[in-house]
Amino acid sequence: MNLKDSLTGELKPVLPHQVSIYACGITPYSSAHVGHARTYVVFDLLAKVLRAQGHDVRLVRNITDIDDKIIATAAKAGVPWHELSERYASENRVLMEATGLSVPEEPYASHYLADIFKLTQALMDKGHAYVAASGDVLYRVASFKGALLMAHKEGSLLSEQGQTRVDSSGKEDLRDFALWKRVGADEPGFDSPWGWGRPGWHVECSAMISALFGGSVTIHGGGVDLKFPHHQAEIMQSEPVFERPLADIWMHNGSVTSDGQKMSKSLGNFVTWQAALDKAQEVGQGLGSDLLRYALLQAHWQKPLDWSEELLTQANQELYALTRSLQGIAADEPDAFVAELSANLNTPAAFVWLRQQHKAGQFQVVAAALRFLGVNVDAWAALESAQAVTLSAAQIAALQEQRLAARAAKDWALADQLRDALRQHGVEVSDRPASVKG
Ligand SMILES: [Zn+2]
Repeated sequence: MNLKDSLTGELKPVLPHQVSIYACGITPYSSAHVGHARTYVVFDLLAKVLRAQGHDVRLVRNITDIDDKIIATAAKAGVPWHELSERYASENRVLMEATGLSVPEEPYASHYLADIFKLTQALMDKGHAYVAASGDVLYRVASFKGALLMAHKEGSLLSEQGQTRVDSSGKEDLRDFALWKRVGADEPGFDSPWGWGRPGWHVECSAMISALFGGSVTIHGGGVDLKFPHHQAEIMQSEPVFERPLADIWMHNGSVTSDGQKMSKSLGNFVTWQAALDKAQEVGQGLGSDLLRYALLQAHWQKPLDWSEELLTQANQELYALTRSLQGIAADEPDAFVAELSANLNTPAAFVWLRQQHKAGQFQVVAAALRFLGVNVDAWAALESAQAVTLSAAQIAALQEQRLAARAAKDWALADQLRDALRQHGVEVSDRPASVKG
């Protein structure tokens, strides 16, 4: 497997037998959106391809279970912070399973306090961190001389850093960010060598990678929005302590837009994972989990993906077309398809190849590839049409009228047939005239 590394821009081979993947996960204070679903689908497929190639893969996706937003949302809802984060973390696991994804290891940040303390202390010992007048422990950005994930000017670094959740006095440099944030005794927090407080978001990931993988991983991933400052901060924290690159390969997957626009709650185009799955279920005639995964792999993982009903409809038609002639076909080994995917996990190119195979009548190859993707080939092959038959209100009204006419003409067989047809489309039919009261 070769993957394009975000740090160097080079195509890099995945070499070790034991592959460690750490993908940054959610801060569970609200329902996940379709962008999360895409990240999960991409990393699930990556792990599958690597396993098919004989690698021993350990996929970890952390959960930032304590955070300012969680605390604020929990306070509003009148529940303890850990109850709120657990509610959304488990909702997320239900969604993963409903989408046909394996649930990876999900370490919770609050369970790794000892590792956070150890790393923070190590950074202080090496001169990379200090206790500010506010009592916060801050990272000394000026001390870092290593790799930068993004070429950025000092100005942008300053302004972007200004957007972090750190608000403390006594910074040596505006860019410095919190490793440990002191909070009041009445606020949710933990005891630490630096008093009652909470960990900074960035240090949690460095600490979990230290605890689970000894400080570095084969592949570190997440959405492109995490590249800076989150992943840059992780590099700054981990590399001076563990004295090796934090990751061999950095994978940042593109964002998901909604009908061509950035998804946001204020624009009203925010699509939750559940809503995406429901829509896929409807378009895919009950095979929504296969359809959603297939739709989210339509764009290359590095590129943005535009979510729309059109995307689902097209993916649905393609899956329908690919599964023609596959009824009862014995599956081949998926090796050829896996080889296609091993070129930078280029799903659009692999799907073109798949269509060519289908056109050439290589049905066993196609069936093997689709099964590898987790597609229920037999169920798709059994579909009689690419579309769920949905009737417009006018068509339903016409059927109802025809039925009334059939009854008036005492054509009971036709009336029954029309009643059944209406019921199939979810229209309940009562034969009691509305004027007769019981
Ligand atoms: Zn992270």
